[in-house]
Amino acid sequence: MDLAFDKAKLRRSDIRDWRIRKRSIDARRAPVKLNLQIEFWLKDEEILNIPPFLSQDVSEAKKIAIIGAGPAGLYAALRAVEAGLKPIIFERGKDVRARRRDLALINKEQIVNPESNYCFGEGGAGTYSDGKLYTRSKKRGNVLKALEWFVHFGADPDILVDAHPHIGTNKLPKIITTMREAIEQAGGEVHFDTKLTDILVKDGKVESIQMNDNDWHTFDEVILATGHSARDIFYLLHDRQIKIEAKPFALGVRIEHQQELIDAIQYHGDSENPYLPPASYALVDQVDGMGVYSFCMCPGGIIAPCATAQDEVVTNGWSPSKRNNPYANSGIVVSVAPEDLPNFVPNDPFVCLDFQKKVEHDCWEAAGKTQHVPAQRMIDFVEGKVSTDFPKTSYQPGIVSVDLNTVLPPLIAKRLRKAFISFGRKMKGYYTNKAILHAPESRTSSPVSIPRNVETLEHVDVQGLYPCGEGAGYAGGIISAAIDGINCVDAIVTKYSE
Ligand SMILES: Cc1cc2nc3c(=O)[nH]c(=O)nc-3n(C[C@H](O)[C@H](O)[C@H](O)COP(=O)(O)OP(=O)(O)OC[C@H]3O[C@@H](n4cnc5c(N)ncnc54)[C@H](O)[C@@H]3O)c2cc1C
Repeated sequence: MDLAFDKAKLRRSDIRDWRIRKRSIDARRAPVKLNLQIEFWLKDEEILNIPPFLSQDVSEAKKIAIIGAGPAGLYAALRAVEAGLKPIIFERGKDVRARRRDLALINKEQIVNPESNYCFGEGGAGTYSDGKLYTRSKKRGNVLKALEWFVHFGADPDILVDAHPHIGTNKLPKIITTMREAIEQAGGEVHFDTKLTDILVKDGKVESIQMNDNDWHTFDEVILATGHSARDIFYLLHDRQIKIEAKPFALGVRIEHQQELIDAIQYHGDSENPYLPPASYALVDQVDGMGVYSFCMCPGGIIAPCATAQDEVVTNGWSPSKRNNPYANSGIVVSVAPEDLPNFVPNDPFVCLDFQKKVEHDCWEAAGKTQHVPAQRMIDFVEGKVSTDFPKTSYQPGIVSVDLNTVLPPLIAKRLRKAFISFGRKMKGYYTNKAILHAPESRTSSPVSIPRNVETLEHVDVQGLYPCGEGAGYAGGIISAAIDGINCVDAIVTKYSE
């Protein structure tokens, strides 16, 4: 602290209080530095403590429907409470506790419940994740609000100061439950096991929505926050002639190294330093005209089986709050646009989705039609050799040795091969046959977008329908989805105030 007082040209006696405002690690070269930004309050200054979330009774207020209880849907509901609207959330999956049993079934029995899995259920895809909370969004005020709400509902306040905040799978379920309880206590409603199955549009406006192929409910405003894995929603909209479009996305594999190797590379050998957290990395390259990059890197993490149907396999990653597993995993993915794909047909909204679906199905077949995934050592993959054995991996359902060059589409495999060699040059030691590739990493973002008006945030052709969050193409992670949920409610508030 003395150093901070000196830098600020202040004496301890001038200060009423202080706090760390920003904390980051500069590991670009040795020695690794910890950068702190410290905020002081002078003796005569008032410290303002404004609660970030203001609840009120909305039990009798105007109702809005929110489909999906992921970060977008939950934040939309919280914002609705603040704004004096009554949120009614419909969620196809189960609450976080009941959902946990379905995750165990995938990991131990290879059974995927299509309504309750790593993507579907309370908290959405974000619940059993690493809970990384950084975003490329430049709107600092919105990001801060989203983070402050996480803290208000139980997250560690450190997320407000860390340059790369994360929460961890062990802590997220409790925070998500507290958010839901706040929505219910204010008079909002949350209905689990309740799936949107149809939508009625009359004269260019939403009229009603159907749940579980049965009950119809009338709403003037419907926020559609169903995430990137709700393929049935894309098919439903298309069937009802509600416009959707193909969207670029990314596909590849999830790679796993030993965390100690990544620490040694990133911290220039200073990997025992107790002040340094398990290291992460971010890699990017341009290969044959397409971007190849690391995605959702999980230090000290576990590779998760994220399929939403029985006849496919999908990987992603999560970490506990301490990130203390011995593995470091990351997606390594190739950006693909609709026109890059072999099945491209102009104006076909499903060109990317069909491509994604085929890769997931092919990998499922190649690994024996269970939740085992096809896997290969990194150098074996680059050299086209089937791996004869593997070190232990974190992927619980199990792996099967397959030459991934024979399963992944050539446009993906050839770029991954080149990218791994190039990444090995950028991070000395990264290119090693001790690293295992698990395929596929395919749910990086939505392969479909649902177009909306930039001002009203309503669907371009349907008033009262708000495509929201990652599934609609307006977010790429927990925080950006949460912010989009807030924005959709603000658009409704603006509409009513006019
Ligand atoms: C394992 C894993 C790890 C991840 N790690 C991170 C991370 O560390 N950091 C990060 O920023 N992002 C991470 N992500 C991505 C992040 O979770 C998503 O970007 C985010 O959850 C998107 O929020 P969303 O609300 O738009 O959609 P989702 O979270 O996908 O939520 C959509 C919800 O809608 C529900 N739903 C779908 N269809 C219907 C229907 N017909 N009727 C009713 N409900 C329906 C689903 O059940 C789901 O709960 C991870 C994802 C996974 C799977």
